[in-house]
Amino acid sequence: MFTDSHCHLSFPELREQLPVILEAMAQAQVERALCICTTLEEFEDVYRLAHDHPHLWATVGVHPDTEGLQEPSLDDLLTRAARPRVVGIGETGLDYYRLGGRSVADMAWQRERYRTHIRAGRLTDLPLVIHTRSASDDTLAILREEGGLSASSSQTTSDGAVSRGVFHCFTETMAVARAALDLGFYISFSGILTFRNAADLREVAQFVPLDRTLIETDSPYLAPVPHRGKTNSPALVPWVARQIAEIKGIELDAVAQATSRNFERLFGRVLAS
Ligand SMILES: [Zn+2]
Ligand SMILES: [Zn+2]
Repeated sequence: MFTDSHCHLSFPELREQLPVILEAMAQAQVERALCICTTLEEFEDVYRLAHDHPHLWATVGVHPDTEGLQEPSLDDLLTRAARPRVVGIGETGLDYYRLGGRSVADMAWQRERYRTHIRAGRLTDLPLVIHTRSASDDTLAILREEGGLSASSSQTTSDGAVSRGVFHCFTETMAVARAALDLGFYISFSGILTFRNAADLREVAQFVPLDRTLIETDSPYLAPVPHRGKTNSPALVPWVARQIAEIKGIELDAVAQATSRNFERLFGRVLAS
């Protein structure tokens, strides 16, 4: 069986097709999917999916690209994270790709929001779903600092466990992958891995140990080859697994099983709720 560790089933283009998508998932042996929250306004819709379907789960978080909507307080995240089928905090992180005429210094609000999510992750002991684009240095530095993962941070204070989680839709360099693995994080690959121009990323996927690898669709975006350009859905996640099997020279079934076990290990609450 396959597990899609990151999808956006609450987005209208997928939500409107839900019965069709659930059927396609069953056909493709995609037995589980994690529905990722990107705004507080969207949270109840994401939660409803997890509540209504035993093989779907939810996260709570506000995406770094979300602007002009409700800014999450620590309490906003904690109260929602206490709901039974919420298994992770995110997606969160940093995105300096679309600065829109601003400088990196102007993005302090994004860094502050990211810190709030890391605190929520530690206090709840839930994994972080991290989005990073054109911002890997700051993403890692703040994670080390706020996550209790560096020598300079105060690990012995009363703010809970050290951070754990996943770098989702990974498109960064080998060095960033190594740094994320060193922090104990998992790395999740999307359909980008199947794109013709993604040779460097395939090298990264070869390097990342199978027991730290997750797969995802990030649907409705980034449909894998041979469906590139179409609307993506969790039913297409086996194409990502197939690519990893090819890269590593192992059986598809081994990738399916390992990535599903990794998902259970990281998002442990899926087994309890
Ligand atoms: Zn993302
Ligand atoms: Zn996403």
